[in-house]
Amino acid sequence: MRITRFHIMLFLAANLAALAVASGNWLWLIAVVVVMFVVIGLGVALPQMKFFGPFICEGDASRKQVALTFDDGPDARSTPALLDLLHEQKLQAAFFCIGKCIVAEPALAQRILAEGHMLENHSFAHSNTTNFFTVPELIADLSQAQAAIQIATGRAPKLFRPPVGLSNPNVFRAAKTLGLWVIGWSVRSLDTKISEPEKIVARIERGLKPGAIILLHDGNIPAGRLVLTVKLLLTKLREHGYEVVRLDKLIG
Ligand SMILES: [Zn+2]
Repeated sequence: MRITRFHIMLFLAANLAALAVASGNWLWLIAVVVVMFVVIGLGVALPQMKFFGPFICEGDASRKQVALTFDDGPDARSTPALLDLLHEQKLQAAFFCIGKCIVAEPALAQRILAEGHMLENHSFAHSNTTNFFTVPELIADLSQAQAAIQIATGRAPKLFRPPVGLSNPNVFRAAKTLGLWVIGWSVRSLDTKISEPEKIVARIERGLKPGAIILLHDGNIPAGRLVLTVKLLLTKLREHGYEVVRLDKLIG
């Protein structure tokens, strides 16, 4: 079994709690339990903490390169315009697709791969309760997405990004069973929440560093906003001297 930061924290918390009980210091015990739950909550919500397993959140930091990743597609309302733009700019991205959207848009899935992009697993149902799934439930959902992508494109993904980036030990167990690497991000654009492309790009710029994995969305997002955001982002990346490479090249 791989020792994770979660295991180390549990070990420390158990020892501190035992000391608190032995010395009859109940306030100390409450403090240990509260801090433990806060840290676990942060570990669930923040992929960058790599708390429950080997979350890949950045790539090679020795070169000024970044990778663009797009979640929640394919979406007939926005993905074609994004693909047109990437084609025009001669850039390749990674698409973390929802299995049920692949079933609805198999031709778009085929186009994503035909144009040299990566098409990876972002669960089948993208359920809000994915983080509460048992290991068998997770394996069933991820396998359904793998099968949908295999049927639509003839190729099964190697990478998995959990919905909303939430993780727990079950996510890593399920992914390992299916031979999938768990992928996060280092820069979250909040492009589904912020409506102005300038503000989205300004937020990305603040998090830019060599090896950055940038999270954007091509599903459930207005096509006009998406295209303007990516155009503006590419201009800013060039200004800062960054090259855009495909995710597999960035994470080697
Ligand atoms: Zn998502």
